[in-house]
Amino acid sequence: MAQHSAIAARTATTSTWIAIALILLFASIPLVSGGSFALSRYIVALAYVITAIGVNLAMGYAGEFVLGHPVIIGVSAYTAGILSARLGWSIGATLPCAIATGVLAGLLIMSPGLRVRGWYYSLITMFAVLVLPPVAMMAKPWTGGEDGLTGIKALTLFGERVPDWALFEISLLVLAASWWLTDNFVRSGWGHRLRALRDARHAAESVGIDLTHTRLVVYVLSSVPAAFAGVILAYSTRFVGADMFGINLMLMFLTGVVLGGPGTRWGPVIGMAPLLFLSFWVGPFSPYNAIGLGVGLLVGTLLFPDGVMPAIADALLKRRLRQPNAASGGNPARPSEIAASAAVFGEQYTARSGGGGATPGGHGDAHILRASGVTKHFGGNMALAGVEFNMRRGALVGLVGPNGSGKSTFLNAISGFLRPDAGSVQIDGRNTAGLPVHLISRAGIGRTFQVPQLVEEFTAIENIEVGLVAAEPHAIVSSLLQLPSTRERARARRERAVAAFHLVGLPDSAMDIPASSLPLGLKRIVEVGRAVVSAPRLLLLDEPAAGLNDAERRQLGQLLQKLRDLGMSVLVVEHNVPFMMDFCEELVLLEAGQVSCTAMLDEPLPERLVSYLNYKPTTVPASGGNA
Ligand code: ADP
Ligand code: MG
Repeated sequence: MAQHSAIAARTATTSTWIAIALILLFASIPLVSGGSFALSRYIVALAYVITAIGVNLAMGYAGEFVLGHPVIIGVSAYTAGILSARLGWSIGATLPCAIATGVLAGLLIMSPGLRVRGWYYSLITMFAVLVLPPVAMMAKPWTGGEDGLTGIKALTLFGERVPDWALFEISLLVLAASWWLTDNFVRSGWGHRLRALRDARHAAESVGIDLTHTRLVVYVLSSVPAAFAGVILAYSTRFVGADMFGINLMLMFLTGVVLGGPGTRWGPVIGMAPLLFLSFWVGPFSPYNAIGLGVGLLVGTLLFPDGVMPAIADALLKRRLRQPNAASGGNPARPSEIAASAAVFGEQYTARSGGGGATPGGHGDAHILRASGVTKHFGGNMALAGVEFNMRRGALVGLVGPNGSGKSTFLNAISGFLRPDAGSVQIDGRNTAGLPVHLISRAGIGRTFQVPQLVEEFTAIENIEVGLVAAEPHAIVSSLLQLPSTRERARARRERAVAAFHLVGLPDSAMDIPASSLPLGLKRIVEVGRAVVSAPRLLLLDEPAAGLNDAERRQLGQLLQKLRDLGMSVLVVEHNVPFMMDFCEELVLLEAGQVSCTAMLDEPLPERLVSYLNYKPTTVPASGGNA
């Protein structure tokens, strides 16, 4: 682990040096560039790259497939232009207004993403790009209609006219700042939120992340660079026309981000570069631009499915990682270290869960979960028909029942993924029926999923960290600036994640490899780690042993017992009868949406349960045994 971190740190510093070298290189362009025409086109190019950085934040990191950024540039450029040309405002007043209207436009365009996903979302945001020109035409007295907006005053600062070269340097500074702030942001706990939103939406909610809030933050932060780009455009060309913000520009951002590698720090810069070169070469209004964009998109998706940057990074990182690993032969954890970590987690758990154990907690209730009359219809199909179920605090309970008897539906109903039609659910003494998932989670529920939901590019430890970020303060400014408090939070987060990592018994070798290369059994354990790292009082698991081999299954069962011993209440749905008999202390039989019997496993079992358990292993699922 130390080795990989060292390499990662070295890569990060290398990256910073490359950034500084690039900035100095670009900063010297005005010295060599011929004439102000070329310079103004370079400034336009910078404005586009600045925008692409914001597009990458939304599209790459957060997986929100928005295409509307040209409109943000347009709205901000028009605002700046109108305020300057028509009202004669100075930059000091124009800039904040233009940024504000641009960001507002961005919020408006992207807000359908709170409800709509996938291609519909892309189309809706693309629609905004189609709508901007006609709206600009209608507002002719302000925008100049098809003639465009002219008469924008030259930029003056402190009473001095800002020369073109200085505007170029300012734009370069804005670019560097956008890049740096974004990079800080995605390396803070917000990076966990964003990637979880993109790759594991349900898991994110299940650990308490408020997706609506996360999306709104992304929409605003993703709009800010584009809004700056609009102001830069208005002052550098001193002309604003509706055809500057059309579909071509939209395609350029899309192609640039996809080509460079969505969700990578250098992607938007690397991806935009060839497109901008092309545009310089053939001229900004040449039809070859569109052809170039099309070919770029094709080449990007065919040759570099993850983008150019990941391809380069892969090649570099693999080579570097191979050498030290081969030499040291891995880095196994010492048993004492694991035991210490587990003990740390145990202490944290008791402290955070308010005592835990089978004794009644702060609410004076011996039951962690009380479900009464929980009903759920799917059309005419009654999946839950009034479930009555109380679960003792600190118990390890197995929920069994034939396929389609409503087990998953029940877990979804109590964790909030489904809203019960009727009935009440109390978790730890709090009424939770009807609350959104992230709030129910904060009431003390953790859960795993039938198909593990992980951020595939994250390592096991980072995936476990996802379980902690919801409880952290938002601290957006501190995250953007990577202030000491943010770094301190990251350190504390890592420490707790490592304790949970060892508690759930993940092998040390799994710590630094991306989740995508973990076997299914370990993915399941990582999910358990993510669910328990925030010390929930009630843990729900849906068929955690499916697809595991005997050894993995035994390890999982022992882990559940260990969590129970810490005081966690565990409810597990599982088909594997021996697993349930070996590890649970109580079984609940769910049939046709109702609890038909409950039994302690150390007492004689009721007839109904015996017949279900006995028949179960020999019955093929199709016959179900639905009494
Ligand atoms: P189990 O997990 O016990 O196998 P489920 O809870 O998945 O069963 O399903 C219970 C019943 O509800 C089944 O008849 C299933 O077809 C139905 N069901 C579950 N989810 C949905 C859904 N999203 N839409 C419609 N029907 C559903
Ligand atoms: Mg199920």
